[in-house]
Amino acid sequence: MPGLEDLYREIILDHYRTPRNRGELESPPAIRADGHNPLCGDEITVYLALDGTGDDAVVSDIKIGGQGCSISQSSASMMTQAMLGKPVGEVRALARRFKTMMGIEVDDEQQSDADIALGDLEALQGVVKFPVRIKCAVLSWNTLLQALDTP
Ligand code: ZN
Repeated sequence: MPGLEDLYREIILDHYRTPRNRGELESPPAIRADGHNPLCGDEITVYLALDGTGDDAVVSDIKIGGQGCSISQSSASMMTQAMLGKPVGEVRALARRFKTMMGIEVDDEQQSDADIALGDLEALQGVVKFPVRIKCAVLSWNTLLQALDTP
C-alpha cells in the first residue's frame, strides 16, 4: 500500500513536471525579485502583481521564472497556488508558517500562524530531514518576501 511519503513524492513531481503559474509579468507595474541558491544552483524569479496598498493589498497575479531542482521548482509552484488572491498580510503569515514547518526560526512568529492550512505544501515537510535541501524549498518564499519588501 502506498504510504504518505509516496503521495508526497507524487505531489512534488507533479508540480515539478507541470509547474503552475510559470511565466513573466511586465515589471513595472509588477514587482520583480530574483533569488539564487548557490549551494544547489537554483534560480527563482518572482513576478508579483498587487491590487491595493499595504497589508490589505491582494495578490492579483504571480508568475515564476528560473530553473533548478525539483524541490525548489515544485515549492515555487505550490507557493503561487497558495498565494493567488490572498491579501499581503495572509501571504506573510503563510510564509512564516511554511518556514516554521521547514525548521527555520522566524522573528515575527505569531500564535495564529499555527492554524494556517498548508494544503499541498505539507508534501515538502519531508525535506526537513535533508538540511541541504531546506534552502531549495524556501528559496521561492524568501524571494517572494523580498518582492513584498521592495519599495
Ligand atoms: Zn535545489
